Amino acid sequence: MAYDDQNIFAKILRGEIPCDKVLETDHSLAFNDIAPARPVHVLVIPKGAYVSSDDFTAKASDAEIADFWRAVGEVARMKGVAGSGYRLIANAGEDGHQEVPHFHMHVLGGAPAGPMLKRRDS
Ligand code: AMP
Repeated sequence: MAYDDQNIFAKILRGEIPCDKVLETDHSLAFNDIAPARPVHVLVIPKGAYVSSDDFTAKASDAEIADFWRAVGEVARMKGVAGSGYRLIANAGEDGHQEVPHFHMHVLGGAPAGPMLKRRDS
C-alpha cells in the first residue's frame, strides 16, 4: 500500500494538528492516544513515512528501528508502567484492523490488559 501523506499522524508530524507529546527522539515521536483504552495509552510512531510494521521492518534503517524500540521502552519507563507491566499492540492492515495508515505502536498500561485476544468460535 502506498503511503498516504494526508493520514492523521502525518499531519501531527508536520505540525498541522496538535498532539499531547510524551517523547520525541531523532527518528520517533510518542504522544497520548486521543481515546485511551487504559490509564496509560501512548502511541509511538516513526517520523519516517511507513504505512505499517510490514513497511517499517522492510524499509527502515537500522538507526530508525533501534531508535523506535528504544523510544517504546523509554515511554513505558517514563509513564511508570515498566514495573507493573504493559501491552504493546501494532495493528497492521485489514485483518489487523489498522485504522491509521502510519505505523504505530500502542503502549497500554496502568490496569490489567485482559486476555490477549478473544478466541474465534470457529
Ligand atoms: P489503529 O487502529 O491501531 O490504527 O489505532 C489508531 C489509534 O489512533 C486509535 O487508538 C485512535 O484513538 C488514535 N488516534 C486517532 N487520531 C488521533 C489523534 N489525533 N491523536 C492521538 N491519537 C489518535
